[in-house]
Amino acid sequence: MSFLDFFFTLKPSNLPPLEFKNTLSGNLEVFEPINGAVKMYNCGPTVYDRQHIGNMRPYVFADLIRRTLAVWGFKVKQVINITDVGHLVSDADEGEDKMEKSAKAAGRKAQDIAKEITELFFQDLDELGIERTKIEFPRATQYIDQQIALVKGLEEKGYAYKISDGMYFDTAKFPQYGKLGHIDLKGLEAGARVEENMEKRNPHDFALWKFSKTGEKRQQEWKSPWGKGFPGWHIECTAMIFEILGKQIDIHTGGVDHIPVHHNNEIAQAEALTHKQYAKYWMHNEHITIEGKKISKSLGNTVYLQQLTDKGFSPRSLRYWFLTSHYRTPANFTWEAIEGANTALRRLMTHYHEAPAGRVDQDFMQKFYTAIANDLDTPKALALVWENIKMLNKQTLAQADKVLGLLDSKQQKEMTVIPDEVQALANEREEARTAKNFARSDELRQAIEDKGFMVKDTSEGPKLSKK
Ligand SMILES: [Zn+2]
Repeated sequence: MSFLDFFFTLKPSNLPPLEFKNTLSGNLEVFEPINGAVKMYNCGPTVYDRQHIGNMRPYVFADLIRRTLAVWGFKVKQVINITDVGHLVSDADEGEDKMEKSAKAAGRKAQDIAKEITELFFQDLDELGIERTKIEFPRATQYIDQQIALVKGLEEKGYAYKISDGMYFDTAKFPQYGKLGHIDLKGLEAGARVEENMEKRNPHDFALWKFSKTGEKRQQEWKSPWGKGFPGWHIECTAMIFEILGKQIDIHTGGVDHIPVHHNNEIAQAEALTHKQYAKYWMHNEHITIEGKKISKSLGNTVYLQQLTDKGFSPRSLRYWFLTSHYRTPANFTWEAIEGANTALRRLMTHYHEAPAGRVDQDFMQKFYTAIANDLDTPKALALVWENIKMLNKQTLAQADKVLGLLDSKQQKEMTVIPDEVQALANEREEARTAKNFARSDELRQAIEDKGFMVKDTSEGPKLSKK
C-alpha cells in the first residue's frame, strides 16, 4: 500500500455531515460532540438468562454508531453496563428481582449465573463482529457505593422520599418528567397496573433503593443509610455514567421499550442532581419479531445466536440481516430471511476475495457515506454495495466494511466458496487416487493449484482451500 492509499484509507476526505434522529427532539440533528471524545452509553443486559437474537439488535446498533463515528474521525469512549442485581420483573418497581429469581430456581449463586451469562454474552458479541475490546463493561454490583451516593444527593436536594418498601424519586419535583419521546403521562397512568403502590406520592415515582423484605434473606443485599436492600434499576445506569463518562454524555442508546420509563427516569434523577442536560443525543432501536410474533419465553419462540451457527449459518449473517433494516424499523426474523442473509454474506466474501487491489473508489465512498450519514441508512448502503459490486476493488470493499463490520477474517476462511470447476477437479483427482493412478492425480493437483486452490488429504477426505 502506498502512502497515499494509506492516507485515504485512514482519513476519508469526502465525509458529509453526520445526522442522527434524536429521540429527545424528534428531529434529525447534525452530530456534534459536546467536547472532545464522544462519550456513548448503551443500556446493557440483565445477566440472569441468555440473550436472544432480539436482545442483540441494540448492541449491533451501538457498534454501528461507534464504527461510524470512528470513520468520521471521532474518538469514542463506549460503555455497556452489565446488570447483575436488582432489575425487577416489571418497570413498576414491583415483582421479583430477575437475578434472585433465576438463582433461586436453579439453586445457584446469583453471581455464578451472572458470570456465566456475561461470558455467553461476550461470545455472542465477538461472533457478531462487535469490537468488544474497545468497550468498557462495568457491573452494577461494583458501583453500589456510587448508587447510594446518588440517592443521598437526591434526598438532600429534596427529590427523594422514603416509604415502607424503599426510597422513591418524587416526579412532581421534576416538571419536565416524561420529556423523552413526549410521553403521555396520563396515558401511561391509565395503562398502569391496578396493584400500584398506594404509598407513592405520584403514579410515576420510581424506586431509587428497595428494602429487603423482613424475614427474607436475599443473596445480594447491601447496607444503606435508609435500610438494608438493593438499588433500583434506573439508578445504576446514572451512577456508572457519572463515574466512568462524566455528568454529561453525547449519546445514550437502548431499545424503544426503554423510552417511556427507564430512560425518562434516568433523565429525571440525573438532571435533578446536575441541572445540566444528561445526554445530548438519545437514539433507540426498534424491536424484532420472530415469524411475526413478539419474542417471548412463554410463546417458546426464542432464538439464540448459537442456534444459527448450529444450523450452519455464519453468526455474521445475523449482523447482515440486522443491517438490511433501518434501526428505527421493526424487523421480522424468519429462517428464510436468515438463509438469504447468509447467502448474500457468502457472495460478499467471495467478491471481496476475488476483487482486484486498487485505490479506494472515492466516488463510490461518497455515495456510501451519504447513506450512512443519513441516520445510519444501512439498507441503502448495502444496496449501493450490491449495485456496484462488479466495479468495487478490495480496498473499497474494506473501507465500506469499516462501517458495516461484515468481513471477518476468521469466518472468511471457513466461508471461502469453492468454484464448481475446482470441486470437479478435486472429485476427479480423488477417483484417480482411488484407482491408484498417481500420475493423473498429480496432474489434477497441479490443475487445482493453477486455479488458485490447494487440496489437502485429511482423515476425513480431501479438503480444498484458497492458496
Ligand atoms: Zn439503562
